[in-house]
Amino acid sequence: MSIRVNDLKFSFKQYQKEFEDKALEILRGGYYIMGSELKSFEEEWAKYNKSTHSIGVASGLDAIWMTLKCLGIGEGDEVITQANTFIASVMGITMNNATPVFVEPDEYYGIDANKIEEKITDKTRAIIAVHLYGMPCQMDKITEICQKHNLLLIEDCAQSHGATFMGRRTGTFGSAGCFSFYPTKNLGAFGDGGAVITNDDDLNKSLRIYRNYGSEIRYHNKIVGANSRLDEIQAGFLRVKLSHIEEINRERAVIADNYLNGINNSKIILPKIRNNTSPVWHQFVIRCQEREALMAHLNHKGIDTLIHYPIPPHLSECYNYLGFKNGDFPITEEYADTVLSIPIYNGLTKNSQDIIIESLNGF
Ligand SMILES: *Cc1c(COP(=O)(O)O)cnc(C)c1O
Repeated sequence: MSIRVNDLKFSFKQYQKEFEDKALEILRGGYYIMGSELKSFEEEWAKYNKSTHSIGVASGLDAIWMTLKCLGIGEGDEVITQANTFIASVMGITMNNATPVFVEPDEYYGIDANKIEEKITDKTRAIIAVHLYGMPCQMDKITEICQKHNLLLIEDCAQSHGATFMGRRTGTFGSAGCFSFYPTKNLGAFGDGGAVITNDDDLNKSLRIYRNYGSEIRYHNKIVGANSRLDEIQAGFLRVKLSHIEEINRERAVIADNYLNGINNSKIILPKIRNNTSPVWHQFVIRCQEREALMAHLNHKGIDTLIHYPIPPHLSECYNYLGFKNGDFPITEEYADTVLSIPIYNGLTKNSQDIIIESLNGF
């Protein structure tokens, strides 16, 4: 008996007929890039999030760096984000030659809103809040800080499709919400994909031009842009999944509830839910001082786990040039040393969940 940390076959099988029908429809239709599936998906995704616009792009990383680019962020600008994020949030900043400024996370793994203001300088242009693991950041406070200091707010929603803060979807609090549809995400495609949602008409227009070689009208190139489009086939698959997103997130919430109620071991710290938020459990992340021993124990029971993430961006080799060292962000580093993601995915059986709970409690 072996329980994988994620198994994407199940979410395919859940809606297999719909995916297969959609694939054939698109293949037979003969139109594969920037067609009606993309247009419909963009409308449906904007509507689901109660946002004015949605722009499909090729990946979550593209969503972030192109958004910053279109908002005019570049060399000499500072962008604040949390130190415990996935590397893509930071690469989106540095790809524009802007400087990332890190803030420690709070106990819910989001950027610590109480530690943002001390990092603001006259070069600060924007804050990227990352709703890590599907847990919304402290958006009321962050929005207030952005207004007070006249900063742009961008949300990295690559792990938070459908999550809400005070009833409002993540991605709708500032200038833009950046999403990834990488296959393991809650709304996952069968390949790479991404999108930006925004209420800003100018940003919408800029991104649409930017993602398609800087052209609005074919062969009329206004600016040097990128090739970053969401394919018809992925947009079609995403429409199928989006029609079931509430079920998909509900199933994950049921698994998370089982874990929260069932896991009881003084060596293990469980995730806490921030007031007024509804997380979507992209990951179920526990912490343990004896993480390596716990991993080995679970592995021995046939249970796979993963670490999100073992090396924080400020200690990653690619960011040596920023000059950070061990000890600069003690909370982030402590999290990197103790976090462990246990299996949570659509199709994970109740029996497997019980084995995982029992194994954790037996450690
Ligand atoms: C997955 C992810 C991204 C990047 O998305 P890609 O589609 O893989 O480029 C960005 N930020 C976070 C927090 C992510 O989890």
